Amino acid sequence: MLSLFVEKVIIVGSGCAGLTAAIYAARANLNPLVLEGRQPGGQLSTTTLVENYPGFPDGIDGPELIVNMHKQAEKFGTRFAYAEVTDFELRDSHVRIKADDEWLETQALIIASGASARWLRLENEEKLIGHGLTSCATCDGAFYKNVPVCVVGGGDSAAEESLFLTRFASKVYLIHRRDKLRASKIMADRVFANKKIEPIWDTVVTKYIPDERGEMRAVRLRNVKTNEESELPVACVFIAIGHDPNTKAYAGKIEADPDGYLIAKNLAESKHPGVFIAGDVADRVYKQAVTAAGTGCVAAMEAERYLSELESRS
Ligand code: NAP
Repeated sequence: MLSLFVEKVIIVGSGCAGLTAAIYAARANLNPLVLEGRQPGGQLSTTTLVENYPGFPDGIDGPELIVNMHKQAEKFGTRFAYAEVTDFELRDSHVRIKADDEWLETQALIIASGASARWLRLENEEKLIGHGLTSCATCDGAFYKNVPVCVVGGGDSAAEESLFLTRFASKVYLIHRRDKLRASKIMADRVFANKKIEPIWDTVVTKYIPDERGEMRAVRLRNVKTNEESELPVACVFIAIGHDPNTKAYAGKIEADPDGYLIAKNLAESKHPGVFIAGDVADRVYKQAVTAAGTGCVAAMEAERYLSELESRS
């Protein structure tokens, strides 16, 4: 017999996947508890205009979309708690997860913990974050008006951040380690059409150079083809080189690929009864708000089916 304190459904993560799962689970009367992690709202909360989420012909700001989803989940009875999941145990009849210092028990768990920004792992990186080093143009771009900044990366994120930053900065250097962007054609075309953006090809940042106050002053660059080194004065460095899945708590306990992305079968199922997976935590390919929402829906419906089966057996 389970204790009265066993939750029916716990959802880890409050991005697009977690909140969609919450809306479905709450509407199914499962009284879900969402554990909001280190970045409540997930990646949408740090993005700008989302033009490809169906239903918004003029686009919608990422933070607004996420606030709407949060309200929608709350309206149907979802409970929210701020806690970081640090450990996880599978039991025969339920799942235990450690949220901050407290162990919680649940019959069904939906892991929708998303992915976090990657950093370059250069000297002084941690110290400089917030002092001219960031991974979020939406959050910090407006602080750098009429000064030169740089973006590192060559994907859609780097393109999007560069374009956004042209609203503020005097110049945006786009530093990419190859001679071709990975970004989609539409984004790349926008970048090349913008006079404020100057791509610096075949180049990596090798050092952050702070001023005497500890604020970013410049970066040291190395051309990977010629090995030529140079210094580029910038007031802020925006890192946009991709993400890593937030799966540390489940390492070695849930099937994952070599990069830590969880492996979901049939869109949202894990190998373990009662454990479901949704969103970017298992998606290294599509990583879209709409695909995250879709797998969030599937995870909640599978969890509901699983709980009904459990109930019919007892
Ligand atoms: P991404 O597509 O994986 O691109 C990462 C970029 O960073 C690549 O150009 C990569 O270089 C570079 N990079 C990786 N590690 C690096 C390192 N240590 N040093 C220097 N450069 C490094 O990641 P993303 O741009 O974040 O996009 C992720 C997904 O989200 C994609 O599917 C993308 O289409 C989607 N997305 C879409 C939109 C949109 O539609 N508006 C916006 C943002 C993201 P290489 O090219 O050499 O590998």
